[in-house]
Amino acid sequence: MIFDCHMHTGLCGHAQGTPSDYVEWAARKRLQLVTFTCHIPMDMGGFGNYGIRMKEMQLPQYFQIVDKARKTGDKLGVEVLCGIEAEIFPDERIMALMDRILQGNDFDFILGSLHHFTSLYKERLRLVGAGTDFEKVETYFQDLATGVHSGRYHSISHPDVIRIYGTVSHFDPKEHEESIRNFLQAVVDTDICMEINTSGFIKECAQVHPDPVILDWASEMGVNLTIGSDSHNPQSVGQFYEIVLPLLKEKGFTHLHYHRGGKRIAVPLES
Ligand SMILES: [Zn+2]
Ligand SMILES: [Zn+2]
Repeated sequence: MIFDCHMHTGLCGHAQGTPSDYVEWAARKRLQLVTFTCHIPMDMGGFGNYGIRMKEMQLPQYFQIVDKARKTGDKLGVEVLCGIEAEIFPDERIMALMDRILQGNDFDFILGSLHHFTSLYKERLRLVGAGTDFEKVETYFQDLATGVHSGRYHSISHPDVIRIYGTVSHFDPKEHEESIRNFLQAVVDTDICMEINTSGFIKECAQVHPDPVILDWASEMGVNLTIGSDSHNPQSVGQFYEIVLPLLKEKGFTHLHYHRGGKRIAVPLES
């Protein structure tokens, strides 16, 4: 069984196609399950509210269009689930709206993302005195581990996204092995998942998130995985699975996971 648990809808303002289009492409690529994970509304402009995420008042519309896609999926043999891509941020005071949305709705799946390129996170790096690339990457993985312990998320998406989008110019996972392993250990200890995000192949790093070196550590430490294409257009649903699935087997992973009603379901990689 093949599935994709990270994709967007036009409501965020930077994705193309209707959810039903994504489901049609999923069927064409023989995927049996997809989970929509549009960016969660946040009430601080520093998270990039415009063109990045829907507004809170658009949530009903989000559920509506995903529901419509579910009907398309019923006809095509693709199960459609409704998740959300939530934010990880170290300052709890600005998470109130997000928490209200997370608690007030039944999402099948909650992704946690630390978008390091938002103006709020850049300010955070300045405030903690993280000036060098090394310090910025260390802070990022420490904040990621804090996010894991918050208990909000089922899986942490694109865990090494700090290596792209310009916050640092240099990123070598081996130089940060201790803090990355601390993050991975937090994922194991809290019994959540880490995401394999295949969108890295179309970005400047041209590599899967996280880096294959991090995958070695994750495999050795027993980290459970979810998988997603982070599609912002219908054609990229399931993108690069032909490269990534064999890589995961090679690294010793035996299962991938998806979530329905917040409950984790393991699927053998062989299937
Ligand atoms: Zn996006
Ligand atoms: Zn995403």
